Amino acid sequence: MNQQIFQTPIEYLRGVGASRADVLRKELGISNFADLLRHFPYKYIDRTRFYKIKELNPDLPHVQLIVRLKSKEVLGEKHTKRLVAQIYDDTGTMELAWFQGMRWVEKLLIPGKAYIIFGKPGSFNGKTQMAHPEIEPYSADALKQKGNLKLQPVYNSTEKLKAYSLDSKGLQKLIAILLEQSLNDITETIPNQILQKFKLVDRREAYANIHFPADADVLTAAVNRLKFEELFFIQFKMLKSKLQRTQKFKGNIFGTVGNYFNQFYKTKLPFALTNAQKRVLKEIRLDTQRGVQMNRLLQGDVGSGKTVVALMSMLLAIDNGFQTCIMAPTEILANQHYQSIEQLIDNEFLEVALLTGSTTAKKRRILHEKLENGDLKILIGTHALIEDKVKFKNLGFVVIDEQHRFGVEQRAKLWRKNIIPPHVLVMTATPIPRTLAMTLYGDLDVSVIDELPAGRKPIETMHFHEGSRLRMFGFMKQEIAKGRQIYVVYPLIKESEKLDLKNLTDGIETMSREFPLPQFRISIVHGKLSAADKDAEMQRFVKGETQIMVATTVIEVGVNVPNASVMIIENAERFGLSQLHQLRGRVGRGAEQSYCILMSGHKLSNDGKIRLETMVKTNNGFEISEIDLQLRGPGNIEGTQQSGVLDLKLANLATDQQLLLLARKCVEEIFEHDPQLQLPENQILNQASHTHNGGLSWDKIS
Ligand code: ADP
Ligand code: MG
Repeated sequence: MNQQIFQTPIEYLRGVGASRADVLRKELGISNFADLLRHFPYKYIDRTRFYKIKELNPDLPHVQLIVRLKSKEVLGEKHTKRLVAQIYDDTGTMELAWFQGMRWVEKLLIPGKAYIIFGKPGSFNGKTQMAHPEIEPYSADALKQKGNLKLQPVYNSTEKLKAYSLDSKGLQKLIAILLEQSLNDITETIPNQILQKFKLVDRREAYANIHFPADADVLTAAVNRLKFEELFFIQFKMLKSKLQRTQKFKGNIFGTVGNYFNQFYKTKLPFALTNAQKRVLKEIRLDTQRGVQMNRLLQGDVGSGKTVVALMSMLLAIDNGFQTCIMAPTEILANQHYQSIEQLIDNEFLEVALLTGSTTAKKRRILHEKLENGDLKILIGTHALIEDKVKFKNLGFVVIDEQHRFGVEQRAKLWRKNIIPPHVLVMTATPIPRTLAMTLYGDLDVSVIDELPAGRKPIETMHFHEGSRLRMFGFMKQEIAKGRQIYVVYPLIKESEKLDLKNLTDGIETMSREFPLPQFRISIVHGKLSAADKDAEMQRFVKGETQIMVATTVIEVGVNVPNASVMIIENAERFGLSQLHQLRGRVGRGAEQSYCILMSGHKLSNDGKIRLETMVKTNNGFEISEIDLQLRGPGNIEGTQQSGVLDLKLANLATDQQLLLLARKCVEEIFEHDPQLQLPENQILNQASHTHNGGLSWDKIS
């Protein structure tokens, strides 16, 4: 039970010493026993069976085959000199190549003879190939020997480490030594009943088998257990901090539904709420009656009607004597919120004020006063809201738009604006998959608006290849004739700015030729324009003076032109899914049927094809985000980049969703039955979370 042993500096491990310890630390960040034990193999060499040539592909690990030699040949001269051998089995032929040690190998190779080869499949000129395989003549003895081998771990190493004989094999030796001497010191971190119930192997076994698996099944069980542990303790931490927060922070109670809410509902609300909106409002009502601070994430696609839900929650707060605010990440978005709220309630009903970086000092003074004496009940703004100068009399409800651009710190700053922290509703229009939400926002409650308001016509999406450009022009003219407006968007990706600019310039030229003055007018907006020019061009489009807006992705946020009903995305294969979805969300805001046309070349990568097919198939942001997660992996999903939560060593939120859901459920049940972790079977968790930083590592003991 000696956990301290894992904090032993790595130099004290037999076979390490001071200089090796130094490179291990510098090259791999391995500074103690625990770090080494958690330096997991990144792959395994499969010596458990023989492969066939037809089965090979570059994704396979090192594999072994039994083959026969057809021919051999030395090609090239001097630097390009190489030995190439053609081999075959009953499924196909392939090439082996050596660039060094040719003389020895060449002697070994006799056409017609059989060999056992072992190496990493690669490809060359589109054909399967293997460079520098290990090779030996086939014999019954050799076969028996190879057939008995197991999965061999392969570890990340570096050139510097290799100079200290710490290549994969060298590291493997060290890990074997470490496991031998301290395996018994590895203690369990997960309650026994959970291990039993879900047939998880114990921790000791898992660590031994992830490094030295006897076979693939044992390896799977080991990895599964350690992944579970990883996910389990993230959820444990999240739910624990949520629990602590609810225990520590009292919440204002919104006990009554009063005049503002009722009047708004009866006389102002211009439409019937969707079921999803009603459900979320109910969730918020329940949250705000429990005497506990609410922290809720509201996810919903663009246009799903989050604003009105936020507003009605704010009215509820106001009915109970509190002030409210909405914080948006940019001035444009703050402005938009201000305008849409003003459309729903007029100043006679309730005053709404806007506070941003460009609010004049004079206006600010008046605002500050009204906030401090409590006259102003609804404030909308940017970061300017959290400045210390801004003081509320009684802030009770805060709406934060676009979560991922605000840090936890900033959220906390808002809480401190009141003795009892305000309830917080975080809204985001970038739907993220459930498992990601659970991990990134695991300490928040999550509400989802997964339904668009009735009568909204779903945007129709089409994918055209370059050859259908004329058809696209025809379609554009038809829509313009109906009085509609059209966006044409070009990619702007930093790495190929020049190419993009050329694409854009060519595009503008083509559009101007196809849609000539005076009949047609075009707005052009791109990153090289000054802010003033950009704004002027946008305004022309907003006012309907131009019918077409040719733009780079700068229009992604903040433009709202209900009369624009067609979104054309050029080189659509170059956009990510979430970006395509956001762009498409610019149309479909009016009463007209809207369209999105994805233009692409004929040659598409596999992923590119899936992205475009997905866009054509569905308008549902959640569905799209799930596919995005599968395609790109969790680290690349918008809004997750800065999150340390996703530094998972083994688990992958895209492929281990079931395991995550299971881990989450286990943790929920534990806290439900034993919130203080007092039951004997849960003591292990108190220990684990205190001594091993959530069981994840032994090194960061707090
Ligand atoms: P979001 O903020 O989720 O993108 P908004 O709240 O801005 O969406 O709503 C988009 C538009 O839909 C607004 O014009 C809003 O007034 C309207 N809207 C919201 N809810 C409904 C509803 N239940 N029925 C009809 N229209 C609605
Ligand atoms: Mg909105």
